[in-house]
Amino acid sequence: MNDTVFGKILRGEVSADLVYEDEHAIAFRDISPKAPVHVLVIPRKAIVSLSHAMAEDAELLGHLLRVCAKVADAEGLSEGGYRVVTNIGEEGGQSVFHLHFHVLGGRALQWPPG
Ligand code: AMP
Repeated sequence: MNDTVFGKILRGEVSADLVYEDEHAIAFRDISPKAPVHVLVIPRKAIVSLSHAMAEDAELLGHLLRVCAKVADAEGLSEGGYRVVTNIGEEGGQSVFHLHFHVLGGRALQWPPG
C-alpha cells in the first residue's frame, strides 16, 4: 500500500490537475510550480524512487520517459527545450516517496541546480 500524496491522487482521494493518463502512468501539474510549465509524471505502480526500481521495471521506466516527452510536446516545450528531473532521497531533494519525473519548462532554466 502506497501512502504518499501521489498514492492518494492515483486512488482519487486527492484531486489533481491531470494532463495525461494511460494504463501505466499519469501526469498532473505540480501544486507549487517552479517554472511556467511544471508537470509531474508518475507510474501507477508504487515505486519509492529511481533507486528502488528493479530490472523488471526497465520497460516502465522507458515508458515514463516517453510520457515526459509527450507531455512536454503537448505543453509546447519541444522547440524551446525543457528539463526532466527525478529527485532521489533526502540529499537529492525528494519529498514525496513515490517515483516521479518533473517536466519543467517555459523559461530559461539555470544549471547547475542549487
Ligand atoms: P520532490 O520534492 O522531487 O519529491 O517533488 C515532489 C513534488 O510534488 C513537489 O514539487 C511538490 O510541489 C509536489 N506536490 C506535492 N503535493 C502535491 C499535490 N497534492 N499535487 C501536485 N503536486 C504536489
